[in-house]
Amino acid sequence: MPLRSNRTSGNRHYAIVGAGFTGSVLAAQLLRGAEVPTTVTLIERADAVGAGLAYSTPNGRHLLNVRAANMSAFPDDPHHFLRWLWAHDGGHDVPPSGQAFVSRARYGAYIQDVLEEARAKAPPHAALNLVRGEATDILPGRDGVRIRMGNGPRLAADAAVLCVGHFPPSLPPAATEEVLASGRFIGDPWNRAAIDATDRDAPVLILGTGLTMVDTVLTLLDEGHRGPIMAVSRRGLLPLVHRETRAFTSFLCPDVMPSTALDILIALKADVRRARAEGLDWRSAFDALRPYHHRIWRHLPPEERQRFLRHLRPYWNVHRHRLAPEVASRIEAARSIGQLEVGAGRLRSLTPTAGGLEAVVAERGRDREWRRTFGAVINACGPECDYRRIRHPLVRALLDRGMARPDPLRLGLDVTEQGALIGTDGRESERLFALGPIAKAPFWEMTAVPELRSQCARAAEHLAGLPQPEPLSLAGLGRLAGALGLGQGRRR
Ligand SMILES: Cc1cc2nc3c(=O)[nH]c(=O)nc-3n(C[C@H](O)[C@H](O)[C@H](O)COP(=O)(O)OP(=O)(O)OC[C@H]3O[C@@H](n4cnc5c(N)ncnc54)[C@H](O)[C@@H]3O)c2cc1C
Repeated sequence: MPLRSNRTSGNRHYAIVGAGFTGSVLAAQLLRGAEVPTTVTLIERADAVGAGLAYSTPNGRHLLNVRAANMSAFPDDPHHFLRWLWAHDGGHDVPPSGQAFVSRARYGAYIQDVLEEARAKAPPHAALNLVRGEATDILPGRDGVRIRMGNGPRLAADAAVLCVGHFPPSLPPAATEEVLASGRFIGDPWNRAAIDATDRDAPVLILGTGLTMVDTVLTLLDEGHRGPIMAVSRRGLLPLVHRETRAFTSFLCPDVMPSTALDILIALKADVRRARAEGLDWRSAFDALRPYHHRIWRHLPPEERQRFLRHLRPYWNVHRHRLAPEVASRIEAARSIGQLEVGAGRLRSLTPTAGGLEAVVAERGRDREWRRTFGAVINACGPECDYRRIRHPLVRALLDRGMARPDPLRLGLDVTEQGALIGTDGRESERLFALGPIAKAPFWEMTAVPELRSQCARAAEHLAGLPQPEPLSLAGLGRLAGALGLGQGRRR
């Protein structure tokens, strides 16, 4: 479907920072629907385009946690990924129903192809321009935006979209300077080289018991780790496992959405009871609620959103974001032989010792603590979403200059539903946007592909409808040069 555009002439230029899933699919949508001359500049700091953090793992046993049937990049073509699987890479292991969990590496290859195909099939007036490097600042102006790159060049565009994905977890208070200097604390759970370097026989402590912990355990096991692994989080909840379910229709009335966190729980429990009465299990009821997530979140007043996050979030996450059965079996097997232990507690301290790091953990619900020494401690608490704590230069520049602000619930950046950044003055930007997990505040669920692909499609339409920026005056050029730190040109 062609993108709506209120412009009849002029070249449109969009810069997208980050070529993971969100950036690549947005670029593909912009190219597919371009009605007027359009340039899409896609900026990526990593070697691979399309893969991002989630789909760049080389480990073939890191599986998608969503069925292949639900992983198309395009909401208007739900079987796109299945067709790709069947056409490429021996997709015969995927049944016609698409009820299979394929490797994340394969999915990364699919997104690369999506981008490549969009580039190849783009109309002659639309072009994709791939720029390698790290964006470190963005300056908006009346004529569009200027992007400063860490490796030198500066780029101009009508609008910029941040698709920068996840940031590693922040350090826990126990990770003091001495702990970091010991070399035994791995702060970034996606630092494969650091995990590969851990002593195979040493006991390892993982902070966190969610999906990142599961990935870390699989990485350790696949590297031949023989030592015991202990995973600890405040509640000790593990993600639950997918099972094949039949479709169920939620009894939620679209006109009467729950308006408190408690109402959500009551509605969900009622659906689970009805699903069970039909011979289905809780998964069917949970999945039936998916089309309503955004509407429910929009309907909740801020204090109820807060209440949901404080009391229900951990339980919601383990039910909503489930494990592929193959992955769950490996975790279960490691637990049954005693190699993996999962506990509930709070890390009190870490102390470097001759043998490693001694951890003191206060057990949940008991008036006691345990202390053990580990060869390595891995921080797998999940991505950091509180932008006050993120130190990346691009994020810092936008926050420090008041062009962006963290959302009040610390879920990401404060953005409108269209992804427009909201500055410290409360005004929404006409030129700066964010998509993907960093823009989940208005929606709550904006992490997995089924939600992200629709966000990308809507954003492409919105961007195509933006008014054309005014041309820059000479005075404006001078101000911009000053802001970018460009020296005066030599006088002749
Ligand atoms: C480990 C993991 C597994 C997951 N598995 C699944 C799954 O199975 N199914 C599912 O539906 N969802 C899954 N997700 C959810 C995931 O959030 C989305 O599927 C999706 O990958 C997010 O895409 P993104 O483009 O926003 O982020 P990413 O795909 O991470 O892409 C961000 C990109 O931006 C680049 N970048 C960042 N900053 C800059 C900068 N300043 N300059 C230049 N480039 C920059 C990064 O290098 C990266 O390539 C998973 C998430 C993680 C972390």
